[in-house]
Amino acid sequence: MVHRIAVVEEDLCQSKKCGLECIKECPVNINGQECITLPGSKIALISEELCIGCGICIKVCPFDAIDILNLSEELKSDKIHQYGVNSFRLFRIPTVRKGQVVGLVGRNGIGKSTALKILAGQLVPNLGDYEGTATWDRFIQYLSGREMKEHFERIADGELRVSLKPQAVYKLPEAWTKETRLLLQQMDERKKMDEVVETLNLKETLDKKLPDLSGGELQRVAVAAASLKDADLYLFDEPSSYNDVFQRLAVSKLIRGIAESGKSVLVVEHDIAFLDYVTDYVQIIYGEPGAYGIVSGLYASRTGINSLLDGYLPQENVRFRDHAVTFGQRAAGETVESEEVVAKYTALGKSYKAFKLEAAAGEINGGTILGVVGANALGKTTFLKMLAGVEKPTSGTVHVDAKVAYKPQYLSSEFDGTVDEFFMTTLGSKYTDPVLQDNLVVPLRLEKLLARRMGELSGGELQKVAIVATMAQDTDVYALDEPSAFLDVEDRFVVARAINRMVKARGKAAVVIDHDLQVVDIVSDRLLVFSGDPGVSGEATSPLTKEEGMNEFLRRVGLTYRRDVNTGRPRVNKPGSKLDRDQKDRGTYYYVSAQREESAPAD
Ligand code: ADP
Ligand code: ADP
Ligand code: MG
Ligand code: MG
Repeated sequence: MVHRIAVVEEDLCQSKKCGLECIKECPVNINGQECITLPGSKIALISEELCIGCGICIKVCPFDAIDILNLSEELKSDKIHQYGVNSFRLFRIPTVRKGQVVGLVGRNGIGKSTALKILAGQLVPNLGDYEGTATWDRFIQYLSGREMKEHFERIADGELRVSLKPQAVYKLPEAWTKETRLLLQQMDERKKMDEVVETLNLKETLDKKLPDLSGGELQRVAVAAASLKDADLYLFDEPSSYNDVFQRLAVSKLIRGIAESGKSVLVVEHDIAFLDYVTDYVQIIYGEPGAYGIVSGLYASRTGINSLLDGYLPQENVRFRDHAVTFGQRAAGETVESEEVVAKYTALGKSYKAFKLEAAAGEINGGTILGVVGANALGKTTFLKMLAGVEKPTSGTVHVDAKVAYKPQYLSSEFDGTVDEFFMTTLGSKYTDPVLQDNLVVPLRLEKLLARRMGELSGGELQKVAIVATMAQDTDVYALDEPSAFLDVEDRFVVARAINRMVKARGKAAVVIDHDLQVVDIVSDRLLVFSGDPGVSGEATSPLTKEEGMNEFLRRVGLTYRRDVNTGRPRVNKPGSKLDRDQKDRGTYYYVSAQREESAPAD
């Protein structure tokens, strides 16, 4: 048995601009019943009772605003919340465990933040009765016999203290315009301010006012504030955005420390290496972004992340993606480069008033993707800009007769028009190139964005548009600055693979800066490693083999990697574990072969 749900995406439905195709062509309407209507002449309303699931409205809607989905009947009784008629619904609720870190992972728009708000007691779940008044009593009654009942009883009684690091840290300066120090002092119920400031490297931030902070500083201030509260449950909604690898590691140490002191912790995260490192358990929310999300059972981190990659949940026998993400076992250092040098530069220097960069000379061959890693404010963006011809080096020259397509780190959407118009203006017929369509446009679901205005896109949506606009170019070098930012795990894999495949197929080259080590690992053939004193001086190596580069970088970070036996994905070794110590002794920070790992204890 199935039950049908109809979803109309509010920001896509534009009844004033279309010909009301859904209403005119619905066979139930044609038969004289009112299946699809337009109350208040605004957004189409679809009756889930009358809908026969023919799918015609989905096809005829010019704005891709409608989804009709069949869900299993059993799921009906698991509905936790529905925002309104024909809108998003969440099935099941994540679990939290005392003294443990649970990770929550899933696509953008699948209900992660919604679930967190419910767990925090900020949103009273309505069990699908969006017209009635939701009460905790009703919800607790519903939870009878389930694991999370006690949690919500204590929430309802105001006994459970919850601290939530919200996703939208950029809203923080609106609420607090004074110095960081004053904010943290006010939050410091645990009397741990000095320790937390030290761990998160916030000393130099203390005397700055919140509106003057960089994205990374703001994120860490938000994480610090949330962790200083004295609570029973700590919820961190996307704590690694804007942070570099070192800072992500600092955040994960802090989060682990909170769990080790006996508290419950839940983390929403898109960086798999981070998730793997910080969590004990993982829960996946799967479904259809914008339409519905189902919270999976609790899996041990390794199993959960492998299931995420597989697209299959063995315990519940659910396939949520038609293909698995696999990792080629291409030996490190083995590349498919051509002889042809696509870009070449001498030693490069760049001096700003307060910052100095020195990069060793290098060249990039056709078919090569050069990954760039390093902490924030070491000059990675400056280097890429010099390569792209956007900035002039103070010393040295870039010999690029080659054309460069450049995707900046900070995206702005000044284009006054829709995504469709943007592509038409900037790309013309290149947009319909089958290689671009197959590798990026279709898997990233860009068609859904075409009717939207550029100025109204979310960070992740804007990122996808910018990546497509760059990769569509007919050029010699693709230069991409932090393409994974704001993307969910699935889209990160799509992008990493697409860059790799398209660059190799075209015999061109790419330079990709990123902080998600999983993305860096998939996308790169060679690596540039940046080191130095953030904000003061930076140094870049020449292009190293991937093994050399990873080794060099991981040594600085203090992490070791191995390959997972089942999926071949690189995994962070638990610090201090036997494998970690052995690899550090041998100086092989980057993963050893899969065979070696089979003798490693499972965790
Ligand atoms: P995630 O955190 O996984 O990206 P969210 O929980 O923020 O997802 O959102 C899930 C879905 O619910 C999205 O389609 C979003 O547009 C919708 N949604 C979120 N908040 C509201 C709200 N207050 N009213 C209506 N729809 C909402
Ligand atoms: P990364 O990309 O590694 O985070 P950037 O290249 O963006 O680093 O910046 C390196 C340093 O140079 C930072 O301290 C930054 O403030 C400084 N910087 C970058 N661009 C300029 C500029 N146009 N004028 C002055 N300083 C700059
Ligand atoms: Mg969210
Ligand atoms: Mg940068």
